[in-house]
Amino acid sequence: MTAITRTRRNIDAPAFEDMQRCVHCGYCICDCPTYLALGTEAESPRGRLHLISALAEGRVSATAGLVAHLDRCVQCRACETACPSGVAFGRIMERGRALVLRGGGGRPPLGWRLRASLASLLLPHPGRLRFLAGLLRFYQRSGFQKLVRSTRLLKLLPGRLYEMEQFLPPLPDRVLAPVEVTRPSGDVPAHRVALLVGCVTPVLYPNLHEATVRVLVRNGCEVVVPPKQTCCGALHVHAGDLKAARRLARQNIDVFLALGVEAVITSAAGCGSTMKEYGELLKDDPKHAEKAATFSALVKDVTEYLVALPFNAEMGTVRGRVTYQDSCHLAHAQKIKAQPRAILEAIPGLDFVELPQADRCCGSGGVYSLTQPEMSWRLLEEKMKRVAETKAGILATANTGCMMQLQAGLRRFGPKKTQMAHVVELLDEAYRAVEND
Ligand code: SF4
Ligand code: SF4
Repeated sequence: MTAITRTRRNIDAPAFEDMQRCVHCGYCICDCPTYLALGTEAESPRGRLHLISALAEGRVSATAGLVAHLDRCVQCRACETACPSGVAFGRIMERGRALVLRGGGGRPPLGWRLRASLASLLLPHPGRLRFLAGLLRFYQRSGFQKLVRSTRLLKLLPGRLYEMEQFLPPLPDRVLAPVEVTRPSGDVPAHRVALLVGCVTPVLYPNLHEATVRVLVRNGCEVVVPPKQTCCGALHVHAGDLKAARRLARQNIDVFLALGVEAVITSAAGCGSTMKEYGELLKDDPKHAEKAATFSALVKDVTEYLVALPFNAEMGTVRGRVTYQDSCHLAHAQKIKAQPRAILEAIPGLDFVELPQADRCCGSGGVYSLTQPEMSWRLLEEKMKRVAETKAGILATANTGCMMQLQAGLRRFGPKKTQMAHVVELLDEAYRAVEND
């Protein structure tokens, strides 16, 4: 393998040192959902690593076939957990995609350029997201969705639009208007933390944001939600648009560090793993490298933060049988598996049952359900079979992207009576139930 020369053009090329760590043992293969589904080396971590190496060294170009193998990777990072050599596959894949997007293997595919442009045009702009949510809400509430679904009209929609329509959860009546500072009443706060709102949460899950604030306040935190924060850049990183991701990261770093808080908290695991990696993303940035490392060290998933406190154990009863689906970016990227389970097991009245293959991807993967709908539905159907085996009435997770995907799975494959919840929403319910017990 020849060392990769880093030039201005390919500054985001995968690092030779990263790829060199792979000893081709294949331990990762049987944990890769796409290899398990398709059974070919090119759809495995080891195979994709070979392809990215060849691309980075200029031995192959970014043909449609090669791009398709990279595209089918759901970026779940289960291979990182399985790998005994510590191969940073997530980073290699992101850099491989960045190389393709920047024309490192020939003309970048149109679909990839469109995906990157859409992410930049939409996600960092709350006003545009609200406008889009308003249109979709009208579509769902006006009876138009019912009409479209009951006729053959839906089948006439272009492929991607049809899939988008299927994955779309029912939109809530309102869009979140976050409160900038929330303090525990009466007490001097024991902690001062900041909270990332996220792009999707305000329009799809406003209750989750409010539950997270209430839970943190119940644990003695003053919660600051700075209005100038922006999108974390996770989807940009996954798509290989590292330039746009760095721009967003710099803004977040400046906004959050200026607050002087003890932690920057998120209830979205995908956002958390990206922000924990800002240090790596900006390590060559002369102005932001050090600040990025400081910022990343402050980032905590809400379950991680609460368990470390430790969280207030004064809870009321929440009745139900609950199971838990690991978010890939929590379990594999952040190595957080015990904390969400510890919270669920601590809630009085909840009967926690382990989900078989809980850390196998549900097929969400950011926009994977839209770019690779066939594989996404396939992984989701398998997931729903495992959920049904648990006979749980509540399916919990800790990431908004997974919530969207799993809700779509419950609607299409069942079990239809199982309710979706974020771990923090259940904890909030337990705190609020104290008065009733
Ligand atoms: S990130 Fe997930 S889908 Fe991609 S190669 Fe690794 S295990 Fe397979
Ligand atoms: S990525 Fe890790 S587990 Fe997979 S083949 Fe390479 S060294 Fe082995």
